[in-house]
Amino acid sequence: MSSEATKPMGERVGAAPLHALHVETRARVEFKDITGVIQKAVEESAVASGVCHVFVPHTTAAILINENDDPALQKDLDGFLKQLAPQDREYLHSDGNCDAHLKAALIGCSKFLLIENRRLVLGRWQGIYFCEFDGPRRRDLRLKIIAG
Ligand code: ZN
Repeated sequence: MSSEATKPMGERVGAAPLHALHVETRARVEFKDITGVIQKAVEESAVASGVCHVFVPHTTAAILINENDDPALQKDLDGFLKQLAPQDREYLHSDGNCDAHLKAALIGCSKFLLIENRRLVLGRWQGIYFCEFDGPRRRDLRLKIIAG
């Protein structure tokens, strides 16, 4: 994550700030826990109660909410997705990353999170993962934090 990670951009009076973050991934497939970064952005906003929309503007990356306690689960997720979309299968989209598009399509590029008392509402075992499927890359991530 870059240091400008939680700076709101395009702020206007009365508008919910849109945060532009960067995520550096270090492997072709990586499940990077970004719960802390998103929680920090929520704390820095003036929003005590509302929603945080997390959006990935990429076609080979995704956002997942799942258990963040046992790192072995990330390997199982990787293995499961590889079974569904092996990299070496012949695809019509033939630029070599079709498996990454399919995995991203399955998990999805956005999530809505609830905010209560300036905290993300997450279960005891839940974390937010940035899912990289065609890395390593410097990726963009957008947050919209809305009071309500
Ligand atoms: Zn492609």
